[in-house]
Amino acid sequence: MIPKDELAKAYDPKPVEEKWGKFWLDEGLFTADPKSPKPKFSMVLPPPNVTGILHMGHALCFTLPDIITRWKRMQGYNCLWLPGTDHASIAVHNVIEKSLAEKGLSREKIGRDEFLRIAWDWKEKYGGVITSQLKRLGASLDWSRERFTMDPGFSRAVKQVFVSLYDEGLIYRDYFLVNRCPHCRTVLSDIEIEHKDLRGKLWHIRYAVEGSAESVVVATTRPETMLGDTALAVHPDDERYARLHGRRVILPLQERPIPVITDERVERDFGTGAVKVTPAHDPVDFELGKKHGLEQVIVIDGSGKMTDAAGPDFAGLDRFAARAKVVERLTAAGLLVKVEDHEHAVGHCYRCKSVIEPHLSWQWFVRIKPLADEAIRVVEDGSIVFVPGNWTKTYFEWMYNIHDWCISRQLWWGHRIPAWYCRDCGRMMVAMETPAKCDRCGGRVDQDEDVLDTWFSSALWPFGTLGWPDETEDLRTFYPTDLMSTGFDIIFFWVARMIMMGLKFRGAIPFRHVFINGLVRDLKRRKMSKSEGNIIDPLEMIDKYGTDALRFTLAALAVPGMDLALSEERMAGYQAFANKIWNASRFVLMNLKEDRPDIRESELTFADRWIRSRLSVITAALTASLEQYKFYEAADLLYHFIWHEFCDWYIEFAKVGLRDGNQTTGAVLAETLDRILRLLHPFMPFITEEIWQHLPGAGKSITVADFPRPEPGWRDEALEKEMDFVQKVIDETRRIRTKNKIAPREKIKLIIVEGQAEGTSIASGKATIIRTESELLRGLTGAAEIEFGAAMPAGDDLLKGVTGPCEIGIIPPKPTDLAAERDRLQKEIAKVEAEAAKTARKLENADFVAKAPAAVVAENRSRLDELRDRLAKLGQNLAKLSDPA
Ligand SMILES: [Zn+2]
Ligand SMILES: [Zn+2]
Repeated sequence: MIPKDELAKAYDPKPVEEKWGKFWLDEGLFTADPKSPKPKFSMVLPPPNVTGILHMGHALCFTLPDIITRWKRMQGYNCLWLPGTDHASIAVHNVIEKSLAEKGLSREKIGRDEFLRIAWDWKEKYGGVITSQLKRLGASLDWSRERFTMDPGFSRAVKQVFVSLYDEGLIYRDYFLVNRCPHCRTVLSDIEIEHKDLRGKLWHIRYAVEGSAESVVVATTRPETMLGDTALAVHPDDERYARLHGRRVILPLQERPIPVITDERVERDFGTGAVKVTPAHDPVDFELGKKHGLEQVIVIDGSGKMTDAAGPDFAGLDRFAARAKVVERLTAAGLLVKVEDHEHAVGHCYRCKSVIEPHLSWQWFVRIKPLADEAIRVVEDGSIVFVPGNWTKTYFEWMYNIHDWCISRQLWWGHRIPAWYCRDCGRMMVAMETPAKCDRCGGRVDQDEDVLDTWFSSALWPFGTLGWPDETEDLRTFYPTDLMSTGFDIIFFWVARMIMMGLKFRGAIPFRHVFINGLVRDLKRRKMSKSEGNIIDPLEMIDKYGTDALRFTLAALAVPGMDLALSEERMAGYQAFANKIWNASRFVLMNLKEDRPDIRESELTFADRWIRSRLSVITAALTASLEQYKFYEAADLLYHFIWHEFCDWYIEFAKVGLRDGNQTTGAVLAETLDRILRLLHPFMPFITEEIWQHLPGAGKSITVADFPRPEPGWRDEALEKEMDFVQKVIDETRRIRTKNKIAPREKIKLIIVEGQAEGTSIASGKATIIRTESELLRGLTGAAEIEFGAAMPAGDDLLKGVTGPCEIGIIPPKPTDLAAERDRLQKEIAKVEAEAAKTARKLENADFVAKAPAAVVAENRSRLDELRDRLAKLGQNLAKLSDPA
């Protein structure tokens, strides 16, 4: 326990966050126990890339599930939230190869072993950045179970999955046309490619028909690939080309004859209706080539350079340079018939944005259909639920149209494919351990050079992290997990694959609920990006406003199915909310002795019973919102209840009770604050722990305190309506006072006339509550005397108003000693003038305005406005005093 001292005057988030962040971890409060008799609640953290730096998307993706897991922990669940990082092959390659390039090196120059050594060093040094940032967010993760996708245990799980899928025929190797990024120098899966519409050209090229003076024109968007053409295709029913059936044409520049084939897949209205066929460089042509037994001539290599097969004029050129040269040569030869503008979709690498190159090579694939069928079934039958539900449709659309998954990558950082090839007889062996020699001829073996797609290993995350393939206690206790919270952009990359692998290797779904976050955008709903300069950095926000304010902002904006429009103002607003809670708590604590007094039912005031009733309502509503992942609704409930009902009303009411020496009111204040802190804790963990620890009788930590339950016995709807009425009378009285500039210390006479109200139970009861609670009314309206009348009396000094069922009249006091009052007002004016002048000078100081935090400047501005308003009012009062008419 940290010793109790008085709550500081103002809330300073930084030391509080450091203190409790450390305390929670030191005390092991987030460490799960597989032997616990409590029901379990488990989640795995979507592992950020080791190269990651915390951004607002992470902040959202980690805050929302943290709210859930803190809430569950307080509800008595044995919670496990397991953290870890992903080795992120391509991202790490990008980082390291960039630094190699700066030294004039490349991965090929230094070799595989040296490259991996550098990568591991880099991981040890910088891989922890994202995890330390995660800790600042207050995410209640069990760091004792932290995993890395390339740690030995996890690597064993990856190998095991590969080998068993291979043994079952669900993994195979094939010579296939795949997507390759020439910059990253690796193949990519279909979903790692972004399609963008580009304005390109359509080149019309003339091919001569062999042995005749005839020719045929073909249209292409990629003239450089013609060097690898091995046929020309036309539709069998296309009358225009019937004469070409069975003939050959001469491939320009290469001067080699290629056959004319017919196929129904040729689109007659694309270009001229005659198309070139390049099986090694186009997916459609690849299929055509297989069907017609065509040769596959590779003219572009894996790094986007032309091969020797492209001919001596082109070999070694970059693909785009080769395009220009082909066009130039064709033009010179008079074979370029025309060039048209042409807009078409072009695939780009999702990481480096280079144009993708179709690439023919040996690759490994997962036969996905059998796995997908099961993964569809568990969503169809509701075993797995997407929140919001509309993502289910997206999931199905993809799953029904799924293609085999290319899992080999020509990278070094990652899980190396557990396949070996015999140098002598070419036999392939797939095994858990490196074979000593070929099991057929005894020859030496070499391991496959490629590594697995990073998503292959992340697909095993929910069970691989719990110790699988061993049947560990963790695995038995915490699998399946309960919730997966992630972004919509990785539903296919990750969520779908975790479902497939979980079902395949555990025979059970990996999680019950999939909560899909929105995107964090700016106020104008633009994506945050470096080029737009509109990035809001979470760590900067934490430094400025505190972690709790950031967390509360994200929760308040998290409307299911919507993107978040984030602004700094919102965070400043919730920082003010934290300060409001802090100040209210100071008031409550100041009125508490060492122990909390007992609550005596008989001593409960009207206001005490009201706040308890409201608390019960809010507790039930909040719980319902969290059960449905309606974070924005939960945040809204808390904000309004705490700020308006508790701080603005109840504390004011309680002051009346405390003045009367009512011990029970003091106890209800403490009870309400205690419950508020617990309700708020999942959203604002730091400030709530700090305040809660100051309450007499607080336990070890609020993180493991009971989450409040609604108290049906406290609910009193009729009383709430009565309070609503009392508040209306007070509001109206205050409004009249303000309008007529009656100073707060001036005691008035309040006259209430009960009129005909619109059908409330209050009205029919003739508003007895305002009679029984006249003490409360007096306390909050500054009335020295209250009169209940049947009709409003006449009188010059009577100020009138109406609220709901009542007419309100106010008679202000008559200043008795005019001279003394004038003197007092003049002194007051001088004081306010001096302060206003001081504040104005501050704001005229350009240096201050430029350097002080925006919130401080804004505070000064509104302070100045306030002071000026007050001066105006004081001046008017002074004038009134001199001329009472
Ligand atoms: Zn790339
Ligand atoms: Zn062999």
